[in-house]
Amino acid sequence: MAQQDEIFKKLVSHSKEYGFIYPSSEVYDGLAAVYDYGPYGSLLKNNIKEYWWKAMVQLNENIVGIDAAIFMHPKTWKASGHVDAFNDPMLDNKDSKKRFRADQLIEGVIEKLQDKINKEVEKAAKRFGDSFDEKMFRKTNPRCVEYAAKAADIDHRMNLHMKNGDMVGLKSMIDELEIADPDTGSRNWTEVRQFNLMFHTQLGNIAGEESKLYLRPETAQGIFVNFLNVQKSTRQKIPFGIAQIGKAFRNEIVARQFIFRMREFEQMEMQFFIRPGTQQDWYAKWKETRMAWHLALGTPQSKLRFKDHDNLAHYADAAVDVQFEFPFGFRELEGIHSRTDFDLGAHQELSGKKMQYFDPELGENYVPFVVETSIGCDRMFLAMMSHAFTEEDVPDAKGEDAKRTVLKLHPALAPVKCAVLPLLKNKEELTSAAMKIFNDLRYVVNCQYDEKDAIGRRYRRQDAIGTPYCITVDFQTLEDNTVTIRDRDTLQQERIKIEDIERIVLQKTDMRRLLEKL
Ligand code: ATP
Repeated sequence: MAQQDEIFKKLVSHSKEYGFIYPSSEVYDGLAAVYDYGPYGSLLKNNIKEYWWKAMVQLNENIVGIDAAIFMHPKTWKASGHVDAFNDPMLDNKDSKKRFRADQLIEGVIEKLQDKINKEVEKAAKRFGDSFDEKMFRKTNPRCVEYAAKAADIDHRMNLHMKNGDMVGLKSMIDELEIADPDTGSRNWTEVRQFNLMFHTQLGNIAGEESKLYLRPETAQGIFVNFLNVQKSTRQKIPFGIAQIGKAFRNEIVARQFIFRMREFEQMEMQFFIRPGTQQDWYAKWKETRMAWHLALGTPQSKLRFKDHDNLAHYADAAVDVQFEFPFGFRELEGIHSRTDFDLGAHQELSGKKMQYFDPELGENYVPFVVETSIGCDRMFLAMMSHAFTEEDVPDAKGEDAKRTVLKLHPALAPVKCAVLPLLKNKEELTSAAMKIFNDLRYVVNCQYDEKDAIGRRYRRQDAIGTPYCITVDFQTLEDNTVTIRDRDTLQQERIKIEDIERIVLQKTDMRRLLEKL
């Protein structure tokens, strides 16, 4: 884990140094859990959004997109349950004055037990060599069995308290498990209390509850309240979906781990409206579809897994997370939820307006059920960056060229697709030939022209931002209209004709290739 921590630190500083992510308002020492995307970061983020949007909206005739406002009528959040139930259990340490989430502290104990099991497994694997049967060992080794039973018991009790909103129960678990502030070791805790995660502000200059506005904590409600507008204006028939990408805000109690948990973030959500009773099939279908979307990017299956929710939210009859193995372990990347008719039903009741659909095939009206897929754009960004970040030795290279840091991003997501580099800076024939290629290519893909420093250094700069191709213009170019093209991952250089550059670059970097895999 220490090594993973080290890699994560390097990734955070690399993100800043190379213009991917900066702390917000850094001149004022930053703002906790708020970040700004730099020149390459915003390009990568836009590419992630484009991949999601095209996979959802462009490739499905029965999914349409919207862009709803961040502010919504305050009653929206009453109906959705957020005013009453969008809470996390928090407590303060009286000595360190730090605030924690009770469930996360308890989960920390479970993680420690799991670490202990993994250590036992590692030791045994070394001892037994090839004949080691890990499954059997986990099932029969007395220590593993004891730790696993303890972890399961803690998990079960915690989930029960969470479900029942039992703050006293959570506090007694923290006392019983002797949980201390991880930084100071103090066990001097306050009681556990519920903390609502919604930010609020005031409409105009009217004071009071009536004009209390919330910054949306999820984009989904903008879709629910527009369900009939969209259905009527696009004449969609059930089943159909509405997709949206937009900002959401949550006053997270503990915001750590860089852009994993932010107070202002972006969601890519799709609500799929279906006939009541068909939710199990659609839930299974969307699980499969979303996993295929992740795998098409070349992310290995071993880094992705489904994790069913033990503790269902008030609106769901089934829910699963797509977890990704971040440098700090497997964590939620995306949620897939079967939301029943909870949201439309609640808006119908509170607004007094019908939220029903007339099904021409059945000849009846009903409030549709919903299966949703909801992924954080920033978490997807972090997943892609942490998977891509690689430090490696360069074969046959010496000195500072012997090592490189390279972002092995999927070429369709890479911020810059291609760099055009004249071999030497002060040879006008070379720079003008390179500039000509660059000026032509920039109409097709996002590319860069770079003539500063030695060629090896320029290659390293492009590796560091994940550019899949470098085109080098040398003296031979002037004779036979060929250039070399260097592949970021294989480091192979090939000589190709200038007229073939566009086709070759597009072959790998075009979003179309990625979408065709779905
Ligand atoms: P978590 O359990 O991590 O708080 P959640 O279950 O509350 O997440 P959802 O409400 O299902 O998350 O939101 C859908 C997606 O939005 C998540 O899978 C995640 O990718 C993203 N997301 C949620 N909260 C944040 C946050 N504070 N910062 C960044 N992304 C977030």
